[in-house]
Amino acid sequence: MILLVDDTPENLISLKNVLEKHGFEVDTANSGEEALKKVLKNSYVLIILDVQMPEMDGFEVAEVISGYSKAKETAIIFLSAANTEFRFIAKGYSSGGLDYITKPVDINILLLKIKTFYRIYEQNRKLNEIQLALLEEIEFRKEAERKKDEFISIASHELKTPLTSVKGYIQLLERGLNKGDIDIVKSHLAKAQIQLEKLNGLIADLLDISKIESGKLKFNKQYFDFDQLLDSIIEVIHQSNPGFNIEKNGAVNVKVFGDEMRIEQVIVNFLTNAIKYSPGATKALITVNLRNNELYLGVKDYGIGMRADQIERVFEKFYRVEETSHRFQGLGIGLYISAEIIKRHGGAINVRSVYGEGSEFYFTIPVEQLSSEV
Ligand code: ADP
Repeated sequence: MILLVDDTPENLISLKNVLEKHGFEVDTANSGEEALKKVLKNSYVLIILDVQMPEMDGFEVAEVISGYSKAKETAIIFLSAANTEFRFIAKGYSSGGLDYITKPVDINILLLKIKTFYRIYEQNRKLNEIQLALLEEIEFRKEAERKKDEFISIASHELKTPLTSVKGYIQLLERGLNKGDIDIVKSHLAKAQIQLEKLNGLIADLLDISKIESGKLKFNKQYFDFDQLLDSIIEVIHQSNPGFNIEKNGAVNVKVFGDEMRIEQVIVNFLTNAIKYSPGATKALITVNLRNNELYLGVKDYGIGMRADQIERVFEKFYRVEETSHRFQGLGIGLYISAEIIKRHGGAINVRSVYGEGSEFYFTIPVEQLSSEV
């Protein structure tokens, strides 16, 4: 928009009409003071400023405007009876652009200058946009770098913990062996085995991440009995968490075409999270059924739950809920991998959760589509 500033109403009206006829949006002010007020309120591409005005003349107005950050990109064209004073004003104004036209106004020249300033304004705007986008991108890199560093430190810690335990059990084993106490040896061996499995799981997850990254996560799809798989998972989880009750509701009674081990990985992730993130609770509920040719599997827990902003990010790589990340061990990659697995089975993964009450993580996979992939 253009702001016309002139103390002579006839000048304002005639110039406004001409400019509007040429498609420009025009605002007017009939004094320096009014112009300053308008500049503070609105954004102008250009101000056409009469130099000879009572009280505040055009030069003074321009000088004040040059101090407004809002008018940084705004250009000024002075309308002056003579151009001798122009060199004085040039030093006072260092914003968008500066030019002058002598009266009587040659409308063709004025239009040419206006168009040039509009073009410059537009280019400036685009440049600013590009600069902003670049800055954002740099920040986002930086952010990715920070996340990666944080992940490496968490991962090293997570790997070290079971490794240290295994070392400890091996030392104890040695002592047990020396004493010839076979029961103690067996018990230490079993404990070392659990820690080694933990280590194995962590390393497998880390490998999966890099496979996803390089597009090399492969699937070995075959028909398998889903209900049977689910029962065996529940049994295994129950063995390592005997105090925890996993209830199952429903069955699908179909053979599903998919990568059984990968689907197992997702369900185990849901279940171990349901146990981990519900301290004090003793049960989780599995719902499994067929809905409109889709297999639905949900694991509901009665644990800490999540807030809406946390729910939104929970399937992101490396995401862990900040406020609880010190209380619970983890790498923040299990759900990311699960999401990838389900996606690669043509399905969907999601969660319903109430903060402080619990969560239900679930996935659906299209059974028909899977069957036709034989
Ligand atoms: P990890 O548990 O190793 O951190 P996941 O990718 O499995 O990684 O989970 C990501 C994050 O989602 C967890 O750190 C936790 O904050 C949140 N989360 C996952 N499952 C649950 C759950 N059942 N209840 C509450 N929060 C959960």
